[in-house]
Amino acid sequence: MAEYQVIARRFRPQKFGDVIGQDAIITTLKNALASRRIAHAYLFTGSRGTGKTTLARILAKALNCTDLSADFEPCGGCSSCKEIAAGSSMEVLEIDGASHRGIDDIRQINETVGYSVSGGGYKIYIIDEVHMLTKEAFNALLKTLEEPPEKVKFFFATTEPHKVLPTILSRCQRFNLHRISSANIVAKLKSIADKLAITIEDRALLMIADRAEGGLRDAESLLDQIFSFHGNEITCETVASVLGIMTKDCLFEFDKAAKEGRPAFAFDLVHQVFSEGKDLFHFIEMLTEHYRNILLLKISETDAPYLSFPENEMARYKISAEYYTQEQCLQFLDYLTEAQSKIRSAPSVRIYLENILLTIIRSMKKIPIELLVRRLAALEQSIGRSTGEVKITPAIAPVIAPPPVPEKKIEIKENPPLSITVDPSPSSADLSFAAKPKVQIKQSAPAKTPLDEPVKIRQKSHIIEIEENKLKNQSHYDTIFQFAAIELKGKLEKMHIKRL
Ligand SMILES: [Zn+2]
Repeated sequence: MAEYQVIARRFRPQKFGDVIGQDAIITTLKNALASRRIAHAYLFTGSRGTGKTTLARILAKALNCTDLSADFEPCGGCSSCKEIAAGSSMEVLEIDGASHRGIDDIRQINETVGYSVSGGGYKIYIIDEVHMLTKEAFNALLKTLEEPPEKVKFFFATTEPHKVLPTILSRCQRFNLHRISSANIVAKLKSIADKLAITIEDRALLMIADRAEGGLRDAESLLDQIFSFHGNEITCETVASVLGIMTKDCLFEFDKAAKEGRPAFAFDLVHQVFSEGKDLFHFIEMLTEHYRNILLLKISETDAPYLSFPENEMARYKISAEYYTQEQCLQFLDYLTEAQSKIRSAPSVRIYLENILLTIIRSMKKIPIELLVRRLAALEQSIGRSTGEVKITPAIAPVIAPPPVPEKKIEIKENPPLSITVDPSPSSADLSFAAKPKVQIKQSAPAKTPLDEPVKIRQKSHIIEIEENKLKNQSHYDTIFQFAAIELKGKLEKMHIKRL
């Protein structure tokens, strides 16, 4: 029986066309091959699993291939291509910088560098993790890099280019490899699954891709792990259990609970996370990512450019997006990012997590401060207009237009009682403040005012209305409106003084 080869090795790209997510670099390399202007040294940088050594190997193959295709792809069939693919080539030497980091290792390279290749091809040194070399090793390497023999090339790969000596960096042509998008990783995993006859749900592939954070090799290793433990039928639940994470179902349930104002669900959810032994920190990351997705969807509306969900998941996100305002999403994101750094030092992670979820559910009942400010501005404007103090041009009117149709009225009880009488008719500038409430503050008319006509307000009284279906606790709003009323009173008093 043939030895099992891990997916990452088995499906390693053998030509430029197989490499995903690095199109610009591949175009540049092919152009260099076309013009035969190959630099002495190349540095491939990027996070792990993005294809640095893979690209270095393919370039090495292309340089020594005896049957290069018209679009500069190595043939894969000539002896040079085969030897490089098998790692047995005498011309292309791969050195692991992490385990060969000393000056003696580099001296060995320097000693062999002069021997030319028998077939007339290039002698290529691929040094992986080159940042691990010692300073002395770098200096020894520098001598060779300054005046490399003809037909000798150095390809370096590193995840940490800042640790490479600047004198080395300046002698290399540098390529920064991008993280690979989740969509690209999903597509690649899907093609691998097809070839291996694995049935795997789209959402499960996305969970793997998300966990790999732009590293294809990590994603392939995860698929390997799941495949070897769970066979040919892979569901979201399988992936979630292997990764020790929750499926997104619980997040959508949470959205619903937040909308319906069911704080008890916070405890249920945390209990579920704990009892199933899931990764708590990852759960908070998931929740943060969830609100980020909702916010992105709300901001970009129809075309959310960075969101790549399977269709059914996108539909669920669209429903959840209806539950929140942009301000709420931003507020939750602030809160959750702060929580991510604090939770590790919390005395009880469980209680901390419950508190986070409860706070989110409870904040759904709060009126966003932006909305209050807009309403106050609208109120001030309408009073200003009615006394002839503020002139509004139609262009400004939409900005101060009141928020969506109110559903429920709240009466403001003042303590101490405050009464404001506003007589908007031009003849009367009389504003009086009595000891008992006579008039309520109302703001509803401007919505009906046609924008193309001069604004006319003939209101004797104003009442502030709040859109809240299930407002149970009024104390919070009372406080805010008391402030608003006091501010308003001050303003009116000022106007009164002016008129006197
Ligand atoms: Zn070839």
